[in-house]
Amino acid sequence: GQCVSVCPTAALTVVNDIPNVWEALNAKDKFVIVQTAPAVRVALGEKFGAEPGTVVTGKMVAALRMLGFDKVFDTDFAADLTIMEEATEFIHRLQHGGRLPILTSCCPGWVKFFEHQFNDLLDIPSTCKSPHEMFGVIAKTYYAEKMGIDPKNIFVVSIMPCLAKKYEAARPELKHDDMQDVDAVLTTRELGDMLREANIDLMNLRDEEFDEPLGESTGASVIFGTTGGVIEAALRTAYEWLTNETLEKVEFHELRGFDGIKEAVIKINDQDINIAVAHGLGNARKLLEDIRAGKSHYHAIEIMACPGGCIGGGGQPYHFGNFDVLKKRMEGIYKEDQSKKFRKSHENPAIKKLYEEYLGEPYGEKAHELLHTYYVKRKKM
Ligand code: SF4
Repeated sequence: GQCVSVCPTAALTVVNDIPNVWEALNAKDKFVIVQTAPAVRVALGEKFGAEPGTVVTGKMVAALRMLGFDKVFDTDFAADLTIMEEATEFIHRLQHGGRLPILTSCCPGWVKFFEHQFNDLLDIPSTCKSPHEMFGVIAKTYYAEKMGIDPKNIFVVSIMPCLAKKYEAARPELKHDDMQDVDAVLTTRELGDMLREANIDLMNLRDEEFDEPLGESTGASVIFGTTGGVIEAALRTAYEWLTNETLEKVEFHELRGFDGIKEAVIKINDQDINIAVAHGLGNARKLLEDIRAGKSHYHAIEIMACPGGCIGGGGQPYHFGNFDVLKKRMEGIYKEDQSKKFRKSHENPAIKKLYEEYLGEPYGEKAHELLHTYYVKRKKM
C-alpha cells in the first residue's frame, strides 16, 4: 500500500515513492540512475545513529550501489551547472538593464509560494530549473547519447531533503521530449527506510566515489544545501567572470549563519552589488513586499522556504526545531566545501566538457531549451 504524509513546508500531500523505485530497480529494461542532493549527505547518518552533521558521502554512494542503481551520480554536479546558468543570467540582466533583483529559483517550496502569493512578480525569479531537474534532463539527453541508451529506458531517481521536490518533479513544465526530467523523488528519510529494508548498515560501509561524469562537483555546489550557499556559489563565479581576476577569498561569511535575513555588499569592479538572503517564507515575504513597492535596493536575493535551507528540509531526519542539529549539519556542509579540490562551479572539469561537447554557451539556445523553465500564475491560497 502507499503511505501518505503531509508536508510541513508546502502543505502538500506526499506519496511514498519507495515501491516505484524498487519496481524500477527490478525491471530488466530500465537503466536506473540516482542523484543525491547536497544536504542529504550531512543528515542521512542520523538515521543510523551518527551525530548530526556527520558527512557520509562515500558511505551513501556505496549504499546506493548496493541497492542496485546502475549509476550513482550527484545533484552537486547539476548545482554547478545551475550556477553557470544563473550567474550568466544575473550578469546578463545587470549589463542589459534587465529586471533586478534576480531571485534564486532552486527551491520548489518557494517557487510555489510566489506563484500563489506574488504572481505579479513572475518575471523576477531566475528562469533556471532547479539542480535535480537540470540533472534529469542532462541524464536523458547528453548522457543518454554518450552512452547510447534510449532515454525512454532511463529512470532518474532524486534523493532529496525535501517534500516539495516530489510535487516539482511532476510539474508539466519540467519535461523534455514528452519525458519528465525526474521520475521519482525519495526523501532522506525514505532512503534511510529503504536501506533498512535491504539490511544495509550504512555506517559500517567503506567509502566509495560517485560515478563519472555526472558525479563530479565543486565546493560551490555543496553549499547549496544551506541557507546563503546558492548566492555564495553564484558570487564565486560572477565575481571572476565580471572582473577577470581570481577570487582568492572564496568564503562570504556575511551570507552564512541563521539570521532570518542576511545582507552583504560586494564590490565588483566599481559597482556595489547588494545581496540578500532569506530563509523561511515569513522572511521572504518581507523582501518581496519591498520589491512590489519598488523599495528594494538589492541586485540578487536567495530564498529558501525551510529555516536553515535544505539542511532543515521537510524530508530530512526529524530535528524537532532543534537549531543545534541544523548548526551541525551546516558545519558538515562547509567542511565538505573546504575538502574539495575545486571550489568554484566554473572550474568543474565535467561541466566545462558538457558545454564544449553539447550545450555550447551558458545561457545559449541549447541551454535555454533544456535548463530553463517558466512560472505559472496560480490562485491565491
Ligand atoms: Fe525543499 Fe526546503 Fe530546500 Fe526548499 S528549502 S528546496 S522546500 S528542502
